[in-house]
Amino acid sequence: MFEPIDPALARRIRMVVFDVDGVMTDGGVYLGATASGESVELKRFDIQDGLGVLMLRNAGLRVAIVTGRVSEAVRIRAGELKVDDLHQDPKADKLNALTEILQRNGIGWDEAAFLGDDLPDLAVLRRVGLPAVVGNATSDARAAAVWAAKKHGGHGAVREFAEALLTARGQWADAVAQYVAEREAGR
Ligand SMILES: [Mg+2]
Repeated sequence: MFEPIDPALARRIRMVVFDVDGVMTDGGVYLGATASGESVELKRFDIQDGLGVLMLRNAGLRVAIVTGRVSEAVRIRAGELKVDDLHQDPKADKLNALTEILQRNGIGWDEAAFLGDDLPDLAVLRRVGLPAVVGNATSDARAAAVWAAKKHGGHGAVREFAEALLTARGQWADAVAQYVAEREAGR
């Protein structure tokens, strides 16, 4: 079972933002090259995490991904999860990226949640209404958060956060019932 999130805080949230490396993945990257010398970067994503992201969207929350690396793997995964906003910034200037995303969506910092794991996330964690970290976050990131997952990045932390947030908002049970009902109806 996860740590509860304050219900009043949880109900204020309109957008959930995820870091990628160390949050949606375990932080590892597979680097290689094709026979023609083109570099390739692969990442491993967790399927239960992915369903957690879809449940957030089904519950009416907007979902964004803000990452400091640029990779085709993230673009593909963001498409699968139908995230509303994806920003891949090689300079890892996540604060400016998220400022733009929030403004474009008409969402305030106090209405945003962010799940991070390390120093590139600190500035954003210090601004959002619900700063959260994965179970294996670095000590600086953890110190900036009001909620920490038990599970590690790439190994269920995203799902744990999604369930904790929707539970605190009183939406999880209904979201599960709707998910099951849609499949029973064969839609
Ligand atoms: Mg990270």
